[in-house]
Amino acid sequence: MGASPAMARHLVLSDIHANLTALEAVLQAAGQWDDVLCLGDLVGYGPDPNEVVERVRALGARAVRGNHDRVAAGLAEPEEFNAAARMAIEWTRHQLRSQALSYLRQLPPGPVESDGLILVHGAVSDEDRYVFTPREAFEELQRSPGRVTLFGHTHVQGGFLLQGQRLGEIRVEPDPAGAAAVLELDPATRYFINPGSVGQPRDGDPRAAFAVIEDASRVAFYRVPYDIAAVQQRMAAAGLPEALILRLAFGR
Ligand code: ZN
Repeated sequence: MGASPAMARHLVLSDIHANLTALEAVLQAAGQWDDVLCLGDLVGYGPDPNEVVERVRALGARAVRGNHDRVAAGLAEPEEFNAAARMAIEWTRHQLRSQALSYLRQLPPGPVESDGLILVHGAVSDEDRYVFTPREAFEELQRSPGRVTLFGHTHVQGGFLLQGQRLGEIRVEPDPAGAAAVLELDPATRYFINPGSVGQPRDGDPRAAFAVIEDASRVAFYRVPYDIAAVQQRMAAAGLPEALILRLAFGR
Protein backbone atom coordinates (compact mmCIF):
# COMPACT_ATOMS: atom_id res chain seq x y z
CA MET A 1 0.00 0.00 0.00
CA GLY A 2 1.74 3.19 1.32
CA ALA A 3 1.58 5.31 -1.84
CA SER A 4 1.91 8.54 0.12
CA PRO A 5 5.37 9.63 1.27
CA ALA A 6 4.53 10.55 4.88
CA MET A 7 1.92 9.16 7.24
CA ALA A 8 -1.37 10.72 6.17
CA ARG A 9 -3.95 11.50 8.84
CA HIS A 10 -7.50 11.14 7.55
CA LEU A 11 -10.29 12.59 9.67
CA VAL A 12 -13.32 10.32 9.26
CA LEU A 13 -16.80 11.77 9.82
CA SER A 14 -20.18 10.13 9.37
CA ASP A 15 -23.85 10.83 10.06
CA ILE A 16 -23.41 14.47 11.04
CA HIS A 17 -27.16 14.93 10.58
CA ALA A 18 -27.31 18.72 10.52
CA ASN A 19 -25.80 19.05 13.99
CA LEU A 20 -23.35 21.96 13.66
CA THR A 21 -22.53 22.13 17.38
CA ALA A 22 -21.38 18.50 17.40
CA LEU A 23 -19.43 19.01 14.17
CA GLU A 24 -17.59 22.05 15.54
CA ALA A 25 -16.72 20.14 18.73
CA VAL A 26 -15.30 17.30 16.63
CA LEU A 27 -13.21 19.61 14.43
CA GLN A 28 -11.89 21.33 17.53
CA ALA A 29 -10.93 18.01 19.15
CA ALA A 30 -9.47 16.43 16.01
CA GLY A 31 -6.40 18.65 15.86
CA GLN A 32 -4.40 18.27 12.64
CA TRP A 33 -5.46 16.26 9.62
CA ASP A 34 -4.44 15.91 5.99
CA ASP A 35 -7.90 15.36 4.61
CA VAL A 36 -11.49 14.79 5.64
CA LEU A 37 -13.49 11.72 4.61
CA CYS A 38 -17.25 11.93 5.01
CA LEU A 39 -19.48 8.84 4.90
CA GLY A 40 -22.80 10.54 4.27
CA ASP A 41 -25.94 11.74 6.02
CA LEU A 42 -24.77 15.33 6.35
CA VAL A 43 -28.39 16.36 6.85
CA GLY A 44 -31.67 15.04 8.25
CA TYR A 45 -32.88 15.04 11.90
CA GLY A 46 -30.89 18.10 13.03
CA PRO A 47 -31.48 21.86 12.96
CA ASP A 48 -28.51 23.13 10.90
CA PRO A 49 -28.61 21.62 7.40
CA ASN A 50 -27.25 24.63 5.46
CA GLU A 51 -24.50 25.35 7.97
CA VAL A 52 -23.31 21.73 8.09
CA VAL A 53 -23.25 21.35 4.31
CA GLU A 54 -21.33 24.60 3.97
CA ARG A 55 -18.81 23.53 6.63
CA VAL A 56 -18.21 20.11 5.05
CA ARG A 57 -17.91 21.67 1.60
CA ALA A 58 -15.41 24.23 2.88
CA LEU A 59 -13.33 21.43 4.44
CA GLY A 60 -12.93 19.97 0.96
CA ALA A 61 -14.15 16.62 2.27
CA ARG A 62 -14.12 13.53 0.11
CA ALA A 63 -17.72 12.44 0.64
CA VAL A 64 -20.31 9.87 -0.34
CA ARG A 65 -24.03 10.47 0.00
CA GLY A 66 -26.30 9.00 2.65
CA ASN A 67 -29.96 8.07 2.37
CA HIS A 68 -30.99 11.32 4.08
CA ASP A 69 -28.85 13.38 1.68
CA ARG A 70 -30.46 11.63 -1.28
CA VAL A 71 -33.98 12.35 -0.04
CA ALA A 72 -33.15 15.93 1.05
CA ALA A 73 -31.73 16.58 -2.41
CA GLY A 74 -34.96 15.40 -4.00
CA LEU A 75 -33.32 12.38 -5.66
CA ALA A 76 -35.53 9.92 -3.80
CA GLU A 77 -38.71 9.90 -1.72
CA PRO A 78 -38.65 9.07 2.02
CA GLU A 79 -40.44 5.74 1.52
CA GLU A 80 -38.50 3.81 4.14
CA PHE A 81 -38.40 6.62 6.70
CA ASN A 82 -40.35 6.44 9.95
CA ALA A 83 -42.76 9.27 10.83
CA ALA A 84 -40.21 11.39 12.74
CA ALA A 85 -37.51 11.02 10.09
CA ARG A 86 -40.05 11.90 7.41
CA MET A 87 -41.16 15.05 9.23
CA ALA A 88 -37.55 16.09 9.72
CA ILE A 89 -36.64 15.51 6.08
CA GLU A 90 -39.63 17.54 4.87
CA TRP A 91 -38.51 20.37 7.16
CA THR A 92 -34.95 20.00 5.81
CA ARG A 93 -36.14 20.15 2.20
CA HIS A 94 -37.85 23.46 2.93
CA GLN A 95 -34.76 24.88 4.63
CA LEU A 96 -32.08 23.94 2.12
CA ARG A 97 -30.75 26.81 0.06
CA SER A 98 -29.72 26.23 -3.53
CA GLN A 99 -25.97 26.04 -2.84
CA ALA A 100 -26.43 23.33 -0.21
CA LEU A 101 -28.90 21.54 -2.44
CA SER A 102 -26.51 21.41 -5.37
CA TYR A 103 -23.72 20.14 -3.11
CA LEU A 104 -25.94 17.30 -1.86
CA ARG A 105 -27.11 16.49 -5.40
CA GLN A 106 -23.60 15.91 -6.70
CA LEU A 107 -22.51 13.57 -3.88
CA PRO A 108 -21.66 10.14 -5.33
CA PRO A 109 -23.00 6.87 -3.96
CA GLY A 110 -20.31 4.61 -2.53
CA PRO A 111 -18.11 2.73 -2.87
CA VAL A 112 -15.60 5.51 -3.53
CA GLU A 113 -11.86 4.92 -3.20
CA SER A 114 -9.67 7.54 -1.55
CA ASP A 115 -5.98 7.01 -0.85
CA GLY A 116 -6.45 3.23 -0.70
CA LEU A 117 -9.46 3.45 1.62
CA ILE A 118 -12.99 2.51 0.53
CA LEU A 119 -15.82 4.84 1.52
CA VAL A 120 -19.46 3.70 1.73
CA HIS A 121 -22.52 4.96 3.59
CA GLY A 122 -24.15 1.65 4.54
CA ALA A 123 -22.46 -1.21 2.73
CA VAL A 124 -20.50 -2.07 -0.41
CA SER A 125 -23.31 -4.11 -1.96
CA ASP A 126 -25.98 -1.46 -1.27
CA GLU A 127 -25.54 2.10 0.01
CA ASP A 128 -28.71 1.73 2.13
CA ARG A 129 -27.84 -1.61 3.77
CA TYR A 130 -27.24 -1.64 7.53
CA VAL A 131 -24.26 -3.63 8.81
CA PHE A 132 -24.90 -4.31 12.50
CA THR A 133 -23.55 -7.83 12.99
CA PRO A 134 -20.46 -9.86 12.03
CA ARG A 135 -22.75 -12.05 9.95
CA GLU A 136 -23.97 -9.02 7.99
CA ALA A 137 -20.38 -7.82 7.65
CA PHE A 138 -18.94 -11.10 6.33
CA GLU A 139 -20.01 -10.79 2.70
CA GLU A 140 -19.25 -7.06 2.68
CA LEU A 141 -15.71 -7.66 3.97
CA GLN A 142 -15.12 -10.18 1.19
CA ARG A 143 -16.76 -8.12 -1.51
CA SER A 144 -15.11 -4.76 -0.80
CA PRO A 145 -12.62 -3.60 -3.45
CA GLY A 146 -10.20 -2.59 -0.68
CA ARG A 147 -8.72 -4.02 2.49
CA VAL A 148 -9.98 -1.18 4.68
CA THR A 149 -13.56 -0.01 4.22
CA LEU A 150 -15.07 2.91 6.12
CA PHE A 151 -18.83 2.83 6.69
CA GLY A 152 -21.56 4.60 8.63
CA HIS A 153 -25.39 4.46 8.61
CA THR A 154 -25.79 2.46 11.85
CA HIS A 155 -24.53 5.31 14.08
CA VAL A 156 -22.56 2.70 16.07
CA GLN A 157 -18.83 3.23 16.55
CA GLY A 158 -16.63 0.18 15.97
CA GLY A 159 -16.72 -2.35 13.18
CA PHE A 160 -15.68 -5.78 11.95
CA LEU A 161 -12.65 -7.63 10.68
CA LEU A 162 -11.86 -10.68 8.63
CA GLN A 163 -8.56 -12.50 9.19
CA GLY A 164 -8.49 -15.41 6.78
CA GLN A 165 -11.82 -17.05 7.57
CA ARG A 166 -11.94 -15.66 11.12
CA LEU A 167 -14.60 -13.04 11.55
CA GLY A 168 -14.33 -10.59 14.43
CA GLU A 169 -16.03 -7.57 15.91
CA ILE A 170 -14.30 -4.29 16.83
CA ARG A 171 -15.91 -3.06 20.04
CA VAL A 172 -15.12 0.40 21.32
CA GLU A 173 -15.69 0.82 25.05
CA PRO A 174 -16.67 4.37 26.02
CA ASP A 175 -13.95 6.14 27.97
CA PRO A 176 -15.44 8.76 30.33
CA ALA A 177 -12.33 10.95 30.04
CA GLY A 178 -12.50 10.82 26.24
CA ALA A 179 -9.21 9.00 25.60
CA ALA A 180 -9.02 7.60 22.08
CA ALA A 181 -9.40 3.87 21.56
CA VAL A 182 -6.57 2.90 19.26
CA LEU A 183 -6.61 -0.06 16.89
CA GLU A 184 -3.43 -1.10 15.08
CA LEU A 185 -4.34 -2.55 11.69
CA ASP A 186 -2.78 -5.81 10.60
CA PRO A 187 -1.72 -5.77 6.92
CA ALA A 188 -3.16 -9.25 6.32
CA THR A 189 -6.61 -8.49 7.75
CA ARG A 190 -9.63 -6.91 6.08
CA TYR A 191 -11.52 -4.24 8.03
CA PHE A 192 -14.95 -2.59 8.08
CA ILE A 193 -14.61 0.49 10.26
CA ASN A 194 -17.37 2.76 11.53
CA PRO A 195 -16.28 6.10 13.05
CA GLY A 196 -19.69 6.42 14.75
CA SER A 197 -22.12 9.29 14.30
CA VAL A 198 -21.08 12.90 14.80
CA GLY A 199 -24.57 14.30 15.20
CA GLN A 200 -26.88 11.54 16.46
CA PRO A 201 -25.03 8.65 18.19
CA ARG A 202 -27.09 5.49 18.81
CA ASP A 203 -24.59 3.33 20.68
CA GLY A 204 -25.48 4.50 24.17
CA ASP A 205 -22.84 7.24 24.35
CA PRO A 206 -24.37 10.66 23.57
CA ARG A 207 -20.99 12.28 22.87
CA ALA A 208 -20.11 13.07 19.24
CA ALA A 209 -18.17 10.23 17.60
CA PHE A 210 -15.42 10.34 14.99
CA ALA A 211 -12.23 8.55 13.98
CA VAL A 212 -8.79 9.34 12.66
CA ILE A 213 -7.11 6.80 10.40
CA GLU A 214 -3.39 7.02 9.73
CA ASP A 215 -2.72 5.55 6.30
CA ALA A 216 -4.19 2.08 6.55
CA SER A 217 -2.19 1.17 9.61
CA ARG A 218 -3.84 2.67 12.68
CA VAL A 219 -7.30 3.88 13.66
CA ALA A 220 -8.12 6.05 16.68
CA PHE A 221 -11.78 6.20 17.77
CA TYR A 222 -12.82 9.33 19.66
CA ARG A 223 -15.79 10.67 21.64
CA VAL A 224 -16.19 14.34 22.39
CA PRO A 225 -18.81 16.12 24.51
CA TYR A 226 -20.75 19.00 23.01
CA ASP A 227 -23.58 21.34 24.05
CA ILE A 228 -26.51 18.97 23.46
CA ALA A 229 -29.01 21.34 25.14
CA ALA A 230 -28.20 24.11 22.66
CA VAL A 231 -28.98 21.79 19.74
CA GLN A 232 -32.17 20.57 21.41
CA GLN A 233 -33.31 24.18 21.81
CA ARG A 234 -32.77 24.91 18.12
CA MET A 235 -34.65 21.72 17.22
CA ALA A 236 -37.58 22.70 19.45
CA ALA A 237 -37.64 26.20 17.98
CA ALA A 238 -37.75 24.67 14.50
CA GLY A 239 -40.64 22.41 15.51
CA LEU A 240 -38.70 19.20 14.87
CA PRO A 241 -40.18 15.98 16.39
CA GLU A 242 -39.72 15.52 20.12
CA ALA A 243 -38.44 11.95 19.79
CA LEU A 244 -35.49 13.25 17.76
CA ILE A 245 -34.81 15.98 20.31
CA LEU A 246 -34.86 13.58 23.28
CA ARG A 247 -32.69 10.87 21.76
CA LEU A 248 -29.66 13.18 21.50
CA ALA A 249 -29.39 13.18 25.29
CA PHE A 250 -29.42 9.38 25.51
CA GLY A 251 -27.32 8.50 22.51
CA ARG A 252 -29.96 5.95 21.46
ZN1 ZN B 1 -27.63 8.42 9.44
